[in-house]
Amino acid sequence: MRNILLVLSGPSGVGKGTIVNYLLEEDPTLVKSVSCTTRAPREGEENGREYFFISEREFRDRIQANDFLEYDEHFGNFYGTPRSFVERQLKEHSVILEIDVVGALNAKRLMPKDTVLVMIAPPSMEELEKRLSGRGSESEADRRDRLRRVRYELEQAHLYDYVLVNEASVQTKTKIQDIIRSEKEKQI
Ligand code: 5GP
Repeated sequence: MRNILLVLSGPSGVGKGTIVNYLLEEDPTLVKSVSCTTRAPREGEENGREYFFISEREFRDRIQANDFLEYDEHFGNFYGTPRSFVERQLKEHSVILEIDVVGALNAKRLMPKDTVLVMIAPPSMEELEKRLSGRGSESEADRRDRLRRVRYELEQAHLYDYVLVNEASVQTKTKIQDIIRSEKEKQI
């Protein structure tokens, strides 16, 4: 069986984090790549768990050193996938990346054989808006920007290998486990 680079995308607030946690708990052979970001940590986030929080200066230096498999800018902050971590882990494990559409398509372009793209969509825009306002960690303007971004991201769903509507995280998790199993069995 091969190892895959499973890229999960989907709008902020769609519930990717919960699903990823289930996947990691239930399959110890899976590892998650922790991205670097220049944005400030949110309440409850820990350095090295959700992200590595680094300065813009360090981020730029690491771009120069070709340290990122891919990187992108969102809402004025940089986000990047550490190349060496992913390449090293893929020798032994399947790796989950939780990144946006642009990053996902870049990963697919750079590692077409390994990469499987899964988009997680909200049941409806109303539901997503409710979840985002429940989070309460962003200003009204930020939230509007994010909703605009959501529409853009969902329009790119046709470029993905799989699109799952997240009605309930346990069911979505099970569907992703099925996808992982069948993708790992493919002889590519
Ligand atoms: P947030 O600030 O809400 O954690 O993330 C903002 C956006 O950045 C999300 O769409 C998230 O998927 C994306 N993101 C997180 N890490 C990476 C990364 O390493 N590369 C890219 N391209 N996007 C990322």
